[in-house]
Amino acid sequence: MIIIDGAEGEGGGQVVRNALALSLVTGQPFRISNIRGGRDKPGLMRQHLTAVEAALTIGGAVCEGASVGSTEIAFTPGRVAPGEYQFAVGTAGSTSLVLQTVLMPLLLAGEPSRLVLEGGTHNMMAPPFDFIERAFLSVINRMGPQVSARLTRHGFFPRGGGQIEVDIVPGKLSPIECIDRGPLQSVSATAMFAALPFDIAEREIKAARAILSDWPENAFAVRQLPEEQGPGNAFLLEAVFENGCEIVTGFGKLGVSAESLAKTAAQRMAGFLASDAFAGPYVADQLLLPFALAGGGSFTTVKPSQHARTAADVIERFTGQRWVFDQQPNGSHLVRRA
Ligand code: ATP
Repeated sequence: MIIIDGAEGEGGGQVVRNALALSLVTGQPFRISNIRGGRDKPGLMRQHLTAVEAALTIGGAVCEGASVGSTEIAFTPGRVAPGEYQFAVGTAGSTSLVLQTVLMPLLLAGEPSRLVLEGGTHNMMAPPFDFIERAFLSVINRMGPQVSARLTRHGFFPRGGGQIEVDIVPGKLSPIECIDRGPLQSVSATAMFAALPFDIAEREIKAARAILSDWPENAFAVRQLPEEQGPGNAFLLEAVFENGCEIVTGFGKLGVSAESLAKTAAQRMAGFLASDAFAGPYVADQLLLPFALAGGGSFTTVKPSQHARTAADVIERFTGQRWVFDQQPNGSHLVRRA
């Protein structure tokens, strides 16, 4: 039984999700205490519990302690069964984070799977759908398996009600090298909103254009979603390179001005463009798991986040593999197996 202290490192929900995925893939049981010990309100929240329940369902597993607020669970995996599954996060909790939990076990299973996930699709502190579809899955699909995702309805905090569908054609994960992102091919900025004043989107675009001043005017667009999908707002900046893609997102939130969220997102994108790294900070922490399950490969990234370092620690506990972050002379970091 692998024992994990959930307060160590980043100390959030990602530790639980990565442990669930690794347990299902490697067949090793684990016990985690101090769940989300690094957060103000520790313990499993509804969205983390949905991830545990999804892992139980696809993995024929058993789990002690799986309830909202629980700070300790013991999880014993069974046999992963590919198939058709529907999981609903009963709140606006992120559908992407449920996907993060079950994707690797299902794409290594022998038969195809189809998932319908309901909840939030554009949540703060989680990968928005667009990021999953284009920045993350584009790399996974180069590794062997074929995964496609569709958004059928947007879901924003606090209302939720979004839906995504994911088709998984399994395959062996092969190690790949993602060192050079290649030339920049296109850029775009989308101010997406539903049931909010139009000027929010216009103000976001104006603030971002002041920073990304070399982006062409037609790269900036407003996308008004049906009223009933709101209220909600996300500001998405996308840079597509020959070999990869980065999406930086600002999420609309009461009390944060449109200008300020767009400015922060634009500055982050400008920073990424100024580097020559393949993976942005979020792509990096999410790629560690598939790369470890491939047993090798490497990628370059910007400064490694605490999420990435913690993911590497959890991976080492289950696989014995040590992943390191070597700073390069140009400031990027090479992520590779030691
Ligand atoms: P907690 O409430 O404990 O923080 P959590 O499960 O919501 O729990 P984290 O453990 O912080 O969250 O994990 C968040 C995950 O979402 C990480 O994998 C991170 O890469 C990803 N993520 C966060 N923000 C973004 C973003 N803007 N774009 C892409 N991915 C993101």
